[in-house]
Order: sequence, then structure tokens, then C-alpha cells
Amino acid sequence: MHKFVFLGTIAVCAAFAQPNSPNASMVRFDVKAIDKAVDPCADFYQYACGNWIKSNPIPADQSRWGRFSELEERNKFALRAILDEAAKPEPGRDTATRQIGDYYAACMDEKGIDARGLAPLAAEFDRIHKLSDKAQLAELIAHQHRSGIGPLFSFSSGQDFKDSTAVVAQLDQGGIGLPDRDYYLKDDPKSVELRQKYMAHVQRMFELAGRDPETAKAYAVTVMRLETELAKGSLDNVSRRDPEKIYHPMKRADVAAMAPAFKWEQYFTAAGAPKFDAIVVSSPEFFKAVDRQLQEASLEDWKIYLGWHLLHSEAVLLPSAFLKENFDFYGRTLTGAVEMRPRWKRCVDFTDNQLGEALGKKYVEKTFGAAGKERTLKMVHALEQALGEDIDKLSWMTAATKKEARVKLKAITNKIGYPDQWRDYSSVEIKRDDAVGNGIRADQFEFQRQLDKIGKPVDRLEWAMTPPTVNAYYDPQMNNINFPAEILQPPFFDISADDAVNFGGIGMVIGHELTHGFDDQGRQFDPKGNLQDWWTAADAKEFEQRAACVDDQYASFTVAPGVHINGKLTLGENTADNGGVRVALMAMLNTIGKDAKKIDGYTPEQRFFLSFGQVWCSNQREESVRLQVATDPHSPAKFRVNGVVQNMPEFQKAFSCKAGQPMAKANVCRVW
Ligand SMILES: [Zn+2]
Repeated sequence: MHKFVFLGTIAVCAAFAQPNSPNASMVRFDVKAIDKAVDPCADFYQYACGNWIKSNPIPADQSRWGRFSELEERNKFALRAILDEAAKPEPGRDTATRQIGDYYAACMDEKGIDARGLAPLAAEFDRIHKLSDKAQLAELIAHQHRSGIGPLFSFSSGQDFKDSTAVVAQLDQGGIGLPDRDYYLKDDPKSVELRQKYMAHVQRMFELAGRDPETAKAYAVTVMRLETELAKGSLDNVSRRDPEKIYHPMKRADVAAMAPAFKWEQYFTAAGAPKFDAIVVSSPEFFKAVDRQLQEASLEDWKIYLGWHLLHSEAVLLPSAFLKENFDFYGRTLTGAVEMRPRWKRCVDFTDNQLGEALGKKYVEKTFGAAGKERTLKMVHALEQALGEDIDKLSWMTAATKKEARVKLKAITNKIGYPDQWRDYSSVEIKRDDAVGNGIRADQFEFQRQLDKIGKPVDRLEWAMTPPTVNAYYDPQMNNINFPAEILQPPFFDISADDAVNFGGIGMVIGHELTHGFDDQGRQFDPKGNLQDWWTAADAKEFEQRAACVDDQYASFTVAPGVHINGKLTLGENTADNGGVRVALMAMLNTIGKDAKKIDGYTPEQRFFLSFGQVWCSNQREESVRLQVATDPHSPAKFRVNGVVQNMPEFQKAFSCKAGQPMAKANVCRVW
């Protein structure tokens, strides 16, 4: 389910996955990863990671392979062990165990899935087939949305940007099968080629579903035409980072006035929405485009479009032929992966996606120790203190705004490890022989859970990530930072390592998330999570000048032939990376005192930077880099490291860099 709340996250969340080594070793800070033949002042990323990069080629089923993929890999095996155990059909399993076990078993039953063919979707296709009037589309689309299928737009709930205590209904753009609206609109040869490949993919999916090649080809043309019209009406991903641009509060009746061709009341009822009046629309222009298409396109065209989205959404749990075709486009073509991941890894991921807190509870019981939580909390406090000092020392900010920034920093709450209250999935019917049905019912549960929040008090204990997730996030409307259990492990956090290594790892992550509260997006929200300006005009101008420097710096980085980082799309993440490393270093220096000694021949400052750099060691396929730069607000790994150290005199001092060397550029950018 797509939400348009912003989560400032640390990792690259795009489809990047796991390797094949069954016994991935613990990934600790490692001087052997360093390539000493490289001058750290010429290319620090290459210095910190060179040997690792050479000895860690990308596995065939991966589009990128990084040092913390090894952590995800190890974790995957731990989850599999839990699921294998839960899947044993023994009497006396508790409900949650039975649910995750049977879900996983159904997903793993490749033979059964192949034998059933498209039968599990027969009723869904029948619904589409029986449509006899465009007026019935609203009800059908509501049914698809409830089932995790994504035609046309998305409907959910979220905190009101201007009243963070209120949960309101939300309508957002959607309904396309390519990763972003730009894929439909750009004219360069790569984009044209990708569209042709996408249409060929849509055609083959319809052929697999029983259409003759000529009909299937015509269907693909129809899908492309409708999706292109939706793309034209969509906001671009840079605009979508601007909260003011996606905040259009309305009354329920206004929605019908905005897009009268759609039967909104039928839709809201069939979707299962509780009573509501306030609704926030991300992009009225998009819904006007939807409305035009509803009037212009024929019912037959809509049936084709809905059939495509049904096949597309369910492909991953359909028979092998669909699975392979889906991988061929979304895996091979878009990310460069050569092979599909083993089935068990995909099924572990689906279980985590759909019944994540039931699986996560067992994972936490097995793996998460209180010691890790305590030491992390200590580091969070050290980072908060350092960010406070950093704010106090800023040369460009006036006392009035500094005071407000301090209030906001103090108001940030943190959650570490796992939820205090676990989600109860007991109402979801899970059958051992119905992988597709399980997926749809779990999606229905989640869709309803989101809608049920409308008009209720905000649940501040809820987590937006499951415990076995190697990631972390800052939520500007909650004004909180969140660290799932899984990230509190090497290479981020190592209870046996020295402070320099841990501050360069998890300390940097904590600093990154805290800084999100003060990046170009986060700074627009006040301590209570409301979209409200607390800056003096002069300070806001100073901020923007400094942010523009970061924008220009990253936009100058070339990641593939002719491809640059989008400085505006990645501005928040780059700001968080730069601020995060700076305050983590300050926190480390506050913690270790002056007499800290060299270890492995490196000073604490050098070990700090090496630990930070090595978190991001990775190899990535060119297709995956292109996809990342087009859609992901995080910069590719090398630039997350070099972009930051270029801006830090502390780095240049630690490695004795000389002015004019690539890692010691003259015009340093500094926001925080
Ligand atoms: Zn982030």
C-alpha cells in the first residue's frame, strides 16, 4: 500500500536482494577491505572498500551487492529457520505460528501453484468480465484496491499535514506499471527501448493468460495508452518531495466535484471506509486526468487495463511461466539481475511483507538482546546532544531559529528494536493450499487496518517497518526516529567493537535520521509534526543557499554514461548523510575523550570514517544504478561516502589531505 507520508530512511529500499552463501560470516569492521594502493584523499570510497569490491562480485540473482546485504542474507536464513519450524503441521501450534507457517508453506508449494494455473484468479477475472457499464468501475476498483491491486490511484489514511493529531482519508496518484511517471514521458533512446520492452512484457502476460498474440498485442497498446495518460497527469518525484505541493485538503463532496465521472460514494462504501468528511488529495490535476480518461476510454479498454493490473499484482504468486515473465522484465531488464532469487527467499520476504509482525515477534525472541538496545539508546542520547551542540555553533542561524530548532530536537522521540504491542492477524484466513488467496486476504486486512484509522487518535506506538529490516527511518509527522532490531548488528553495530567503529556505523545512522528532522523537507514540520514554518525568513534563505550547494554538488556526480544524480530528488538524503556523519563524529569525540589510542594502525577519527565508508561498500549493476537514480531519493553508495567526506575538514585532517585533492575540494557545502 502506497502512502504519501514521508519517511526519511537510511537504506536503499529499492528491490535489491540477497546472495547465495548459506553461511555468510559476521560482517565486522575489516581493515582487509581497505585498498592501500589507493590514496584516501583521491577516492576515499575506493580506499575504504577497494579490496572488498574486488572480492565480492554480484551474485547472479542480485542487482546490487553490498556489505550490509551480507547482514540481510544472514537474517534471511534465521527467518527461514523460524518459518520451516512454524510450517510443520503439528497440532497445538498457536494461531500466529500456524498463520506464518501455512502462509510460507503455501508460497513454497510450487507444484500446487503450477497445477492450479490461473484458477485462483478466476473469480477476479469474472468480476471484470461481467462489468456492463462504466458506472460499475468504482465498485470494482474498490474491490481491487482492497485486494492489494493498484489500478488508477491509491486510497488510504494518514496524519493530516497541518494537524498531526488527526488521521484523515488520503487519495494519491498511482495506476502505472513502470517505476515512475518519467518512464512514460522521456524521449531518450533508453526510455523508448524500455517502453517497448514493457509493452512486450504486457503482451506476453496476456498471452500466458490465454489471449492470442494479436489480441494480446492490442491489449498492451491499450494499457500503454491509458498508463501514459495517467503518467502525464502525475506529479514528478521531485515535486512530490514538497509537502505543500501534495497537500490539498478537501471535503468529501469536493472529490466528486473534482472528478465527477467516477462514482466516489460507491467507491468509498465498497472500499470499506468508515464515515469521514475530511480528505487530503495529493494531486488534484492527477484526478482530473483520471476523470478525462474515464470519459474518453471505452469500458472494453478499462477491462483490459484492470485485467493487466490483476495479472501484474498477482504475478509473483502465479505459476512459473508468469513468474519467469515477471522476473524477465522487472528483474532482468529493470535491475540487471541474471537469475531469479531462490523461491524460499522470496517466500520469506512475502511473509515478512504480509504478516510481518507475527514473524517479527518470533525473530525478536530469538535474536534481539537487551544489551544492544541499551547501548544504542546511549548512543542516541550522545547523538542528540551532539546535534544540539552543532545547532548552537551554527554560524548562519539566528538565535530565534536556533531556539526553535532546539525545541524540535528535544521533542524527537525514539523507538528501538520492535513494537511494544504486536499486530494481531488472527482474523486473516490463511490456507495451506492457497498462496494467491492468502496474499489477497492479507492485503485486505492491511487495507482495512489503514482505513479504520480514519477519525481515530494517532497510534504513536505503531511501526512502519518490521523488526527484521536492515533500515531505519525518521517520520516528520510523528517527529520520531525508529531503528528496527535488524539494523543493530554488524556492520552497523558491533557490541564487541570500539566506539569509533560504532559511531561511524550505527552512530552515523542515528545522526542521519535525526538530521532528517532538519532537512529541506523535515524542517518544514514543527516539533508536534505539523507542516508549519518555524523559521525566520532570513534563516530560511540561508538554509536554502546551503541546500543549493549540496544539490549542485551531487548533481555533478556521474553514475553511468550520461547519467547524473538528481540533486533535488536526493537532497534530503544527502543532507541527512552529511549532517549525520558530522554529528556522529562530534558524539564520538565527546565520548572517547582525548587519550584514545590507535587500533590496527588507525586513529579513532580514521576508524570512524573507515567504518562509515565500509557500511556502503557495494557492487551494483548499471541497470540497477539507472533505476536507482531515476526513482530513489538515496544517492548510489560511492557518492554517499565521497560526497560527505569532500565536505568535511575533519576528514581532510584525519587523512592529511592537501588542498585541491579530490576529497578536499575548495567549495565545501555545509548545512548542519
Ligand atoms: Zn534518510
